[in-house]
Amino acid sequence: MLAGMSASDARSDTPYPHLLAPLDLGFCSLPNRVLMGSMHTGLEDHARDFGKLAEYFATRARGGVGLMATGGFSPNIAGWLKPFSSRLSSRWQVAPHRRITDSVHAAGGRICLQILHAGRYAMHPLSVAPSAIKSPINPFTPRALSDHGVERSIRAFVRCAKLAQDAGYDGVEIMGSEGYLINQFLAERSNQRTDRWGGSAGNRMRFPVEIVRRTREAVGRDFIIIYRLSMLDLVDRAQAWDEIVALAKQVEAAGATLINTGIGWHEARIPTIVTSVPRAAFTWVTRRMKESLGIPLVTTNRINTPDVAEQVLARGDADMVSMARPFLADPDWVAKARNGRAALINPCIACNQACLDHVFENKRASCLMNPRACFETELVDAPVARKKRFAVVGAGPAGLACATTLAQRGHFVSLYEQSNEIGGQFNLAKRIPGKEEYAEPMRYWDNLLVELGVEVHLGTRADVASLQTQHFDAVIVATGVMPRDPHIPGQDHPMVLGYHDAIMGNKTIGKRVAIIGAGGIGFDVAEFLTQDPPSPTTDITRWTREWGVDTTLANRGGLDTPKVEASPRAVWLLQRTAGRPGKRLNKTTGWVHRAALKAKGVQMLGGVTYEKIDDDGLHVTIDGKPQILPVDNVVICTGQESNRGLANELEALGITVHAIGGADVATELDAKRAIDQATRLGSHL
Ligand code: NAP
Ligand code: SF4
Repeated sequence: MLAGMSASDARSDTPYPHLLAPLDLGFCSLPNRVLMGSMHTGLEDHARDFGKLAEYFATRARGGVGLMATGGFSPNIAGWLKPFSSRLSSRWQVAPHRRITDSVHAAGGRICLQILHAGRYAMHPLSVAPSAIKSPINPFTPRALSDHGVERSIRAFVRCAKLAQDAGYDGVEIMGSEGYLINQFLAERSNQRTDRWGGSAGNRMRFPVEIVRRTREAVGRDFIIIYRLSMLDLVDRAQAWDEIVALAKQVEAAGATLINTGIGWHEARIPTIVTSVPRAAFTWVTRRMKESLGIPLVTTNRINTPDVAEQVLARGDADMVSMARPFLADPDWVAKARNGRAALINPCIACNQACLDHVFENKRASCLMNPRACFETELVDAPVARKKRFAVVGAGPAGLACATTLAQRGHFVSLYEQSNEIGGQFNLAKRIPGKEEYAEPMRYWDNLLVELGVEVHLGTRADVASLQTQHFDAVIVATGVMPRDPHIPGQDHPMVLGYHDAIMGNKTIGKRVAIIGAGGIGFDVAEFLTQDPPSPTTDITRWTREWGVDTTLANRGGLDTPKVEASPRAVWLLQRTAGRPGKRLNKTTGWVHRAALKAKGVQMLGGVTYEKIDDDGLHVTIDGKPQILPVDNVVICTGQESNRGLANELEALGITVHAIGGADVATELDAKRAIDQATRLGSHL
């Protein structure tokens, strides 16, 4: 039985009895076991955006989530993530927060404010930390806090919590993980103090325990305090497991209501949330902690479907699950699970492309799968004066997003797809080891098309004549892309194949392979060719072994020596541009792809001139030196060009045409832009 759950709470009318069980916190009861975890959106940084933030949270509260946490707010200026970013430290800052808390409460939800002091992760020169030790991911060296400074920092946390209470929040989450200030106090790598705040493990944990104890004193009993506890630091010279358990017990005794799980410092070289991390890969850590604690524990990281969440709770790994990104993808996640409509949940594929990548680029977060996320008050459907008839040609992400948006508004939509399945390039992505999650959007769209009554014509190549005779109000051309021809002498040699054939397994591929083109698809092909099936993503034990996670928890930081399985092939990944390939991959995920391929021994080379391909292999010139790569196969991944022949033909006949996605612009083609463009078009046609 889960903590806070009585026998009468167990529901038999749902496949998710644990997930949907209420959680009694003593002074209040949460309606289910789902916490929408803290996620910085960029809207926290200016009070002028709080109206948008309020609607973002209210939308999710209406969707039934049990409890939410805001993005991080710093308790003082030193703790800013970047200059002038979100902060709650003065009374005058309280009133604007009322817009958020009032909206959430009116929608029937509950919300906690996350207090986050960046410590040495602060991107500004005023940063402070336990010791003046620079983080490897930040150019600024922090100033070491004096004893007085530590005391003032504790008081800042407490003041922030009290202000949050005054602003109407139901609680606070104290951010003690991910390598931020509190976590920095707990690890020797960042805390080399010799006073009462450092030295022994007991001294190092004094800072968080005092914060929780004094916060509880200040806010009284009936206020939620979540403490986010770093259960696996995943960096060296970090906490030992017995120290982490001792801290958790002290945090419980100091008055925390819930303990949430934190996994990995931001400077860790082990991925923790990207799509190649297996689902629920870290809930075993929370389970280990449960043996020692009485208060409810929340687990997290790569939980994105009700089935996974239910399994995690049913096997007793935790009392509650936290998910952040899945609520960007679908604000109605809980309501759909509750109402037997889980198949219609818009999935988070853990790509980070529109959420975390945006945050790191100082842009507002959104979601690749749901461009309305964080744009709830802006990307709204136009009223429909007359129901129209639309043809959408191409059922890749762009075509699907446009067809479903139009149909949701009540228009009649015919969707044409020349292949026998929907999904376009996502059908290639889902075959890449570590990208299995890309199958989920097709599950979603398949069900949504049926739900909305879109007329789907698979295996049908829409031609100009038939489109013309049906007199649609407009034709949306989402015919995607075709591979770019690199014009390399000898490219018609039998050893050469395109990325489509390589990924679909249409040809047998030898033991030595050169990949021409090191964009996103070149990297995907390299991952495909260097893994033996099944993918490690489907096997948590294999994945933790490959990345060096110590599941015995015997080693400090939870680190072990990675034991990478040898690649079945020797692979060269090549580009013409000088420098190492992969620099243009996405910010928060590119390093994982580069590290994975490096571990597999892939030779990643830049500054390559392709001379010719013949029976001897691929002839190249690198740094002015001609050489032959003696390969069995060459895979061409040299980008794409728009497939817009149909659009041109229709336009010439005077038919109203909208080209979207790759058919519009192939350069830098990506699903994020395609879905965004398609949704915006569909929302106003
Ligand atoms: P891309 O990112 O544009 O990469 C094309 C590659 O081909 C580059 O390495 C380019 O490098 C090379 N190239 C271009 N023209 C060439 C020519 N004429 N001859 C020889 N080499 C040439 O395209 P992509 O890899 O097909 O990816 C398409 C889009 O899909 C990406 O923009 C990305 O958004 C998305 N995607 C992303 C990922 C991911 O992030 N993991 C995975 C799959 C797809 P040089 O010009 O230096 O040779
Ligand atoms: Fe999930 Fe990608 Fe959307 Fe972020 S952008 S919420 S990772 S689907």
